[in-house]
Order: sequence, then C-alpha cells, then structure tokens
Amino acid sequence: MASQEIETLTQALSRLPGLGPRSARRAVLWLIKRRETALVQLLAALEGVSERLVECQTCGNVDTTDPCGICVDPRRDQRALCVVEDVADLWALDRARLFTGRYHVLGGRLSALEGVRPEDLSIAALIERVSAGGIDEVVLAMNATLEGQTTAHYIAERLEGFPVRITQLAHGLPVGGELDYLDEGTLAQALRARRPMG
Ligand SMILES: [Zn+2]
Repeated sequence: MASQEIETLTQALSRLPGLGPRSARRAVLWLIKRRETALVQLLAALEGVSERLVECQTCGNVDTTDPCGICVDPRRDQRALCVVEDVADLWALDRARLFTGRYHVLGGRLSALEGVRPEDLSIAALIERVSAGGIDEVVLAMNATLEGQTTAHYIAERLEGFPVRITQLAHGLPVGGELDYLDEGTLAQALRARRPMG
C-alpha cells in the first residue's frame, strides 16, 4: 500500500495529458529515487510557474508579465494579428519565428459536440481589438480539424466589414493536424503561403 502522500501525487500526475495512472506511478517512483536531484528541481520549477506566470489580458498568452513580452515588444508588427486556438499553438508558431506580428489566443475551438459556443471563447475581445483599429491583417491559424475550420469561418464572418485582410494558413497542413505537433518547417511553410480566407 502506498502512503497517502504518494497516492495524492500519483493522482495529480495521472491527470496530466498523456499520463495515465500507470505512467504516473512510474513517474512518482522515479522522482522518489531522485529526491535530491530531479524532485527538488521539479518542485522549484512548479513553484516558479505557479507564483510568477500570469495570463496576458491583451492576447491570452502565458508569461511572467501582463501585458506579455510579445504584446509590448516594439519590434513586432502592430498591424498583423495571428489568431490561434491555444497558447501551445502560439508557442509553436513563435518557435518557427516567421510571424512577426502579435497574437490572439481564443482559448479553444467551437464545438457542438463539447458544447463550446462563441461566448466561451475570446472572440468578443478579438472583435474589440480589431475594431480599435491599427490592424491590417488577421491571420486565422486554426488547426486543420473540422472544428478548427468551423471556428475560422465563424471568425471570418464576424470580421466582415472591418477594413482588414483576413488570411488563413495554407492548406499544406495535414488534415486533422494540430499546430503544436507540426515541425517548424511545415509550420513556416503554411504561414508563408497563407492565403485570403474564402
Ligand atoms: Zn500578450
């Protein structure tokens, strides 16, 4: 029988994406054996994240400052805005270092199945940013899934009438492709070949 502490940690870890109860137990054992090295490091890293990270109220990115480093970076093109589903997508695109504008994180995708409605996503805030002016291009960088594309079309409709160019990632993206699983070359290509929404 494992102690209550070990059981609690195992349960917490087993809720992480990609980890089930079995891998969580193995991770706990691994950490206990490396108490002085890996466990202490992990604890410090978790504390750092928990204490210092905040959500950017402008774009939805996660950083140590609000507004985030990307939003306040003067070298970034203020006129281009890239809309992504999740923070993981923002990080994936930014790693590819091809997009020089700023971002807007929706916090998910529209889904009839999961009951995700437009008001559950950061769409009103996006419309507000665009209607404030100063933006020439909105790049819709949704995943190449049915729900991602439905979301892209919905946003394109909502942005109709604003003086902005609406583009989307080129369809070299594999169908069903989640942005943060793509290699940087593929992402960069999809971004470079982005085309008008239609
Ligand atoms: Zn930001």
